[in-house]
Amino acid sequence: MATSLSAVTQPVALVTGASRGIGRSVAQFLAQRGVRVAVHFQRNEVAAQETLLSLEGEGHAVFAADVADGAQCEDLIKRVLQHFGVLDVLVNNAGIYEDHDIKASSYPEWRRLWQRTMEANLSGPANLTYLAVQHMRPRGTGRIINVSSRGAFRGEPMAPAYGAAKAGLNSFGQSMARALAPDGITFFTVAPGWIATDMAQPSLTGPKAQEVLDQHPLGRVGTPDEIAEVVAWLALEAPANLTGCIIDANGASYLRT
Ligand code: NAD
Repeated sequence: MATSLSAVTQPVALVTGASRGIGRSVAQFLAQRGVRVAVHFQRNEVAAQETLLSLEGEGHAVFAADVADGAQCEDLIKRVLQHFGVLDVLVNNAGIYEDHDIKASSYPEWRRLWQRTMEANLSGPANLTYLAVQHMRPRGTGRIINVSSRGAFRGEPMAPAYGAAKAGLNSFGQSMARALAPDGITFFTVAPGWIATDMAQPSLTGPKAQEVLDQHPLGRVGTPDEIAEVVAWLALEAPANLTGCIIDANGASYLRT
């Protein structure tokens, strides 16, 4: 475990969107490694409580917030700090994926989707980063991991706001890595390909399912645990020299068309 994190007490990590999917797995992997987890959720408190119950060890807690709302981000970080007194790791995992085909969307729909996606997938992580950094900087330590997407590199023809938001998130992590390395705060980005979660379910079981599978040389899509393992390693063990990296975790699927 990185010695720079809370060395005496157990480190604390805030994982956004941890009520299900990749976020739940990240919370579980971190808890298995002795981290106290702030399990963030948006609306589904029952699912967040299920995540909480599944975590090894003690001292975890759940927190609600809409990360697309800057005021709620501020309140979230305040509550996490009031509860734990410290924040070592922020995992910006929460996100939405919504189709908005440029050939089929009305202009009001198009604008609504862009606003909603940018706020949830880009402004939310940026705001939470700003707020977490205010606490991390005086301590001279902190790790922030952004969950991006293969779509940032490959384009998302049916969900262009999603692709653009994730490309923006990649750039944001790189900018922050440069800005905050002197302050001991490191930034890592993970870019998953298709992962078997509720978010991906329509594409993995619908009419596109075979086409999606055909992109994968491994013959299968990824699992939430395969992303969580990488995130937990970045949060706790990865050398600081990796700051600014973007890790592709997509089973080489982005190398096929
Ligand atoms: P998921 O839908 O299961 O989980 C996303 C979580 O984010 C949900 O719990 C949801 O409530 C939360 N969330 C969304 N908007 C929010 C908001 N405004 N405020 C608070 N919480 C909000 O999806 P997942 O597959 O586990 O995705 C996790 C991350 O991985 C996302 O950022 C997603 O873009 C990324 N990703 C997923 C895949 C995939 O194929 N599943 C591929 C690439 C990247």
